[in-house]
Amino acid sequence: MKIICVGRNYVAHARELNNEIPTEPVIFMKPGSALLRNNDPFFIPEFSNEIHFEVELVVRINRQGKYIEKRFAHRYYSEIGLGIDFTARDLQAKLKEKGLPWEKAKGFDKSAALSNTFLPKDKFGDINSVKFRLDINGETVQEGDSSLMIFPIDEIISQVSKYFTLRIGDLIYTGTPAGVGPVKPGDHLEGYLVGNKLLDFFIK
Ligand code: MG
Repeated sequence: MKIICVGRNYVAHARELNNEIPTEPVIFMKPGSALLRNNDPFFIPEFSNEIHFEVELVVRINRQGKYIEKRFAHRYYSEIGLGIDFTARDLQAKLKEKGLPWEKAKGFDKSAALSNTFLPKDKFGDINSVKFRLDINGETVQEGDSSLMIFPIDEIISQVSKYFTLRIGDLIYTGTPAGVGPVKPGDHLEGYLVGNKLLDFFIK
C-alpha cells in the first residue's frame, strides 16, 4: 500500500503559502508507517515547533491500473474518506528553501490521519461537488469543496498512474483547501464529509 498525496490542488491554499498555481499535479508520497487510524491521538514530534493540519478528501483505489485514461478513472475507486496531511511546516520551509525533498516534513510517523469509515461515492451524486470541513475545538477552520480542485479526482488518478502503478488499497490524499494552521496539545479535531463526522481525535 502506498499513500500518494497531491500538493497545491486548491488555488486559495497555494496562494496562502505563496506557491505558484501548478500546471500539472504536485505529487509526493508518505510511507505506510505514516498512517494514523482509529481516531488515535496525534503526538507532536520533537523535531518540529510548527505542525500544520491539512484536511483532505481521500480516495481508496480498488483495482490495479497503469496509464489509466481520465474517462475510465472512475472505475478505480468506489469510496471516499477523510484524512489529515499533518505537515511539519517549519521543516518543510527549510527543505523547500534548499530545494530538497519534503519527505521528513510530510512523511514522518503518523502524519497521515485517516478515517476508518469511507463512504460510497454514489452517495454523493457528483464526485466533483463534495463538501468537507475541519473543526478545531468546535470552530470551523477549513471548508473544502471538491469543485474547487485544480485537478479533479479522475485527472489525478490518470496523471499519477503514468508514473506509479496503482494497486488495491492505495490511498490518494487529494490536497487541502485554504485555512491551514498549527495544532497544539489538547486541540480537538473533528472532520466532516458532507455532514458525516469521520474524524474525531486529539492532539497530544
Ligand atoms: Mg496536503
